[in-house]
Amino acid sequence: MIALRGVTKTVQSGSSPLTILHPLTLDVPQGQSLAIIGPSGSGKSTLLGLIAGLDSPTAGNILLDGVDITALDEDALARLRGEKIGFVFQFFHLVPSLTAIENIQIPMEIAGRADAATRAQALLDEVGLHDRGHHYPSQLSGGEQQRVAIARALANDPPLILADEPTGNLDSTNGRHILDLLLQVKEARRVTLVMVTHDPSIAAIADARLVLRDGRQVSEDVAPGAVLAR
Ligand code: ADP
Ligand code: MG
Repeated sequence: MIALRGVTKTVQSGSSPLTILHPLTLDVPQGQSLAIIGPSGSGKSTLLGLIAGLDSPTAGNILLDGVDITALDEDALARLRGEKIGFVFQFFHLVPSLTAIENIQIPMEIAGRADAATRAQALLDEVGLHDRGHHYPSQLSGGEQQRVAIARALANDPPLILADEPTGNLDSTNGRHILDLLLQVKEARRVTLVMVTHDPSIAAIADARLVLRDGRQVSEDVAPGAVLAR
C-alpha cells in the first residue's frame, strides 16, 4: 500500500541546508498498521506529510497503491488525497461553528455526494456517537471530538488512514478508547493505518514500528512495551 524508496527531506534553514529526513526505505502492506515513534523534532510529522503528498521529498520516491505520488502534479495529488487518504489530527481540526454531523456531512456535500446526510449519520453511528450529531464541538469532550474527526476522515472510504498523534491531546482513558476505535475501524474496513505517537502502549499494538531520531531510522521495530523517550 505504501512504499518509500530512499526518501529524504532537506529544508533551507537560514543560509544552510538542514536535512530533516535521511534516506528512508519502507513498506507498509495493505491492511497493516505502522506506528511512527521518536522524540519531538525527530521528523515524524514530516514523514507523515510526505506520505500524504502534502509535502514533496527532496529525493526518492513514494508509492501509494503502486502510484508514484512524487510524479503527480498538485491537482492529481489533491484528487488522490481525497480518494485514498483519511486524516486524523492531534487537535481534531473540527469547524467550531458546525455541529458534529455537519462537520462530517458538509465536506461530502461539497464533494457532490447525493447521500451525504444519510452517510454522515451512518458514520456517526460507526464511531459510537449516534445521538450526538447536533452538538457543537465545544459541547463535546476531546474524545468525542476525535470520534467526529475520525468519522469525517472515513467519509470517502479511504484505504489509508494517517493519524498524527491522535491521542496526544486526550487523557489516557480517552486516548485508549480512540486507539481502540482506530484499530476497530482498521479491522472492519481493512484499511492501512499509519499513526504517529509518543505513547509506547499505542506503538506496541501496531503491526510494525518505525523509530526515528534526528530524522534517521533508529530501529524498524521495538519490543512491545518498550519505554520510548519522549
Ligand atoms: P516531529 O513530528 O517528530 O516532532 P517534525 O517532522 O515536525 O518532527 O520536524 C522535524 C524537524 O524538522 C524539527 O527539528 C523541525 O523544527 C524541522 N522542520 C520541520 N519542517 C521544517 C521547515 N519547513 N523548515 C525548517 N525546519 C523544519
Ligand atoms: Mg509532529
